Amino acid sequence: MIGGDAAGMSAASQARRLKGPDELEIVAFERGHFASYSACGIPYWVGGDVPERDRLIARTPEEHRARGIDLRLRTEVTEIDVDRGRVRTRDAGSGAESWTPYDKLVIATGARPIRPDLPGADAAGVHGVQTLDDGQALLDTLARSGGRRAVVVGAGYIGVEMAEALINRGYQVTVVNRGREPMSTLDPDMGRLVHRAMEGLGITMVNGTGVTGLPTDDDGRVRGVATPAAEYPADVVVLGIGVRPQTSLARAAGLPLGDHGGLLTDRAMRVRGHENIWAGGDCVEVLDLVSGQQRHIPLGTHANKHGQVIGTNAAGGYATFPGVVGTAVSKVCDLEIARTGLREKDAHRAGLRFVTATIESTSRAGYYPDASPMTVKMLAEHRTGRLLGVQIVGREGAGKRVDIAAVALTAGMTVEQMTSLDLGYAPPFSPVWDPVLVAARKAVKAVRQRA
Ligand SMILES: Cc1cc2nc3c(=O)[nH]c(=O)nc-3n(C[C@H](O)[C@H](O)[C@H](O)COP(=O)(O)OP(=O)(O)OC[C@H]3O[C@@H](n4cnc5c(N)ncnc54)[C@H](O)[C@@H]3O)c2cc1C
Repeated sequence: MIGGDAAGMSAASQARRLKGPDELEIVAFERGHFASYSACGIPYWVGGDVPERDRLIARTPEEHRARGIDLRLRTEVTEIDVDRGRVRTRDAGSGAESWTPYDKLVIATGARPIRPDLPGADAAGVHGVQTLDDGQALLDTLARSGGRRAVVVGAGYIGVEMAEALINRGYQVTVVNRGREPMSTLDPDMGRLVHRAMEGLGITMVNGTGVTGLPTDDDGRVRGVATPAAEYPADVVVLGIGVRPQTSLARAAGLPLGDHGGLLTDRAMRVRGHENIWAGGDCVEVLDLVSGQQRHIPLGTHANKHGQVIGTNAAGGYATFPGVVGTAVSKVCDLEIARTGLREKDAHRAGLRFVTATIESTSRAGYYPDASPMTVKMLAEHRTGRLLGVQIVGREGAGKRVDIAAVALTAGMTVEQMTSLDLGYAPPFSPVWDPVLVAARKAVKAVRQRA
């Protein structure tokens, strides 16, 4: 296994479940200090909701080793020799290099965060949040910094989650974002709701602007974020501007990569054209079941499932990963943000004609205490009425409602079929017509009008 986190260690654990140490020797190389950690939990650890780092570690190295997985931390794989079936490794402590042979190889190297090639990007006080080491470094800066101003660069889900974390730490937060609206995984009209809500939380939103540099003081510490129009002062800067598949090793080994730079696999997560090599997690491209196109969607939920499939197959069993519908959920303070399926621009790109329906509803029956507004946007295919995508922005209860749509998308349902879904109802949980069903009804009308 190359890579000791979600995909790699899920694969190792699953393979070990199916085959004992006498039948299958498993060696996992991880270049970092940690394995089996939840990067997804970093914003909540930094923000103080999760009190300590170790809560984010699903299984310790000792636990893996006790189960017969030879996990080697601080050991980087520097080369894959496909012809001879071996990998070259370097020990981070001693620098010693050696070759390890394999019969079966699993590549689970994840994604690498994009770092802007700008003056000051590596200055003290500028942080990414990809690994537990990154999270610890950021917490150390927050503890040391006497300041109170933070700038987050990027307004994807990691950017908005980090904005919340910094608010929880008592910082005045500015988010600088190149996109027209935050959360580019939503259509701009839904992103606009997130924008307004974030401003309502006291976050300064600077959209539609690139960063030109990260000015530093005489000690080399970051002192702000510069854009063409202004400089935003900062005691700490967090970068959340996206990731790319980490596939330089695979590329050098001549393994097949797709248009998005991720490894290409079949449904068994086997690297195309290579019987004994599997790959999964953030380093692969996945099939989008709605558009039928290959995409790079780096999410822990996929990485864990890939690992299960790979572990089963590498141990001689049979499992497949059919693809994804692109479901993701996030939050900034009490605002929940969810999406699944295609945005308008994805549908255009896939050559699909569609209608949209956007509705306002509430999280509970209108008369029930604490009912809060919720906006649901739905895309349906022109003529057929097939559900194409759903986006939801609201407060408590909004986010996980998207799972109804994820199931409907996976089942290939039409919006008309969705209107008769037998969803649970009681006043504390939803209005009698759930917001998702209200959106489906409106989408049905739009499909009929178009027809
Ligand atoms: C802040 C944050 C919040 C997130 N929140 C969510 C969320 O809410 N929901 C969600 O679904 N996803 C979330 N994610 C994404 C999720 O964490 C990733 O999709 C998931 O960790 C991918 O697992 P992976 O095993 O493919 O890659 P990674 O977790 O990146 O693990 C890859 C491992 O491989 C190691 N490695 C790489 N190259 C080598 C090499 N040459 N030799 C040895 N080791 C190597 C790396 O050190 C790394 O530990 C979040 C990510 C971040 C950063």
